[in-house]
Amino acid sequence: MLRFAPSPTGDMHIGNLRVALFNYILSVQREEPLLIRIEDTDQERNIPGKEKEIFEILALFGIEYQEQQFQSNNVRFHRAMALQLLQDKKAFNCFCAPETLEQKREAAKESKTAYRYDGACENLPAEAVIDNENPFTIRLKKPEHPITVIDIIKGESTFAPDDIDSFILMRADKFPTYNFACAVDDMLADVSLIIRGEDHLSNTPKQMAIHQALGYTKKIEYAHLPIILDNEGKKMSKRDDASSVKWLLEEGYLPEAISNYLILMGNKVPNEIFSLKEAVKWFDLKTLSKAPTRFDIDKLKFINREHLKGMDPKELSRYVGFADEEIGQLAKVFLEEAGTLKELRAKTGAIFAPKNVPDAFKEGYETLRDLTLKAPHFDDFDAYRDYLAKNSALSGDNFFKPLRILLTGAEHGPELGEIYTHIKNYIKEVVK
Ligand code: GLU
Repeated sequence: MLRFAPSPTGDMHIGNLRVALFNYILSVQREEPLLIRIEDTDQERNIPGKEKEIFEILALFGIEYQEQQFQSNNVRFHRAMALQLLQDKKAFNCFCAPETLEQKREAAKESKTAYRYDGACENLPAEAVIDNENPFTIRLKKPEHPITVIDIIKGESTFAPDDIDSFILMRADKFPTYNFACAVDDMLADVSLIIRGEDHLSNTPKQMAIHQALGYTKKIEYAHLPIILDNEGKKMSKRDDASSVKWLLEEGYLPEAISNYLILMGNKVPNEIFSLKEAVKWFDLKTLSKAPTRFDIDKLKFINREHLKGMDPKELSRYVGFADEEIGQLAKVFLEEAGTLKELRAKTGAIFAPKNVPDAFKEGYETLRDLTLKAPHFDDFDAYRDYLAKNSALSGDNFFKPLRILLTGAEHGPELGEIYTHIKNYIKEVVK
């Protein structure tokens, strides 16, 4: 089983989508099911409706899965396993007040040492535990030996027991921490490979320590994906518009182009433009770079344009708000200068919208407009142009500028002849 475990705490980040795509690809390659687990145990950070958005995005990107879970439904298992660990003396109740812990943390900071739990509650006598009415957390006893994480992308990293520390499994509100819920759920789902972001690398030894304490011995493989940087080389933050999958979609990047780019970045690929289905055939986690990769929106736009070029014109026409193939072809003419659906919509929309005409061209514009409304149908642009030229006595810029504005609503753009081919059957509507 593979799993993608998003938290419904905000818009889906491209880093998360990348994790989802890789999990999907590996699940297909290994012929193992994929589980989508919504990690909704953090009541305070959950945002209602975000889980629905996650499922919508997965569907839009063609990420198929076989199982789905809400982590909050597993809390009874988390509690049962925590009790088990207490009974086995692998975990202990900790009554330290949050303020006390905070003071100790501050003191460590002042003395410039890394804060570690000091074991205050680790060996409390049974009576002190049973009679204690204070709220408590449950901590795992820190492991006795170092833990080595073997990662498919990053290689080996070893973590000392002190770095793993006696960390919290269950909070005072009786809900599990991320590490505990995740470790238990991965175990219950029989997960064989965990692909997730690099920011979780230091959580992995903790989750392995939980598995060890529970006596779970199945070997799980790990792959931690390098972080994505913005164009200044800083970690791409949630505040960065382009980090949000929803924003990219609204801007008119196609799902197939976004996934193409997320698979391509920081990777060795056989060719630059491909579909998700094609990537399934050759994708290999081992060819991914260990180093963080920069998110390059211009590259994404280039890829988007390539996918738009290859798109069925009828489909493209629907994407830009029309319903026939001809407008899809027309949109493709604008791909020289436009790279997203939003930009294409603006270009094709301007053709059919009322035109803004600069004063200098108003007269020429009106003349050409009247002539066009009365003219017979011309199949050929040259014939149409010659007809207008002959009947208007306009020439040079005074002819071509107003003509371009009349036909496209813009002063610059692709060859008029190419545009005319696709609008000639709607010409009266275009100039109306
Ligand atoms: N809910 C965690 C996240 O979104 C999951 C990390 C994991 O895959 O374990 O970052």
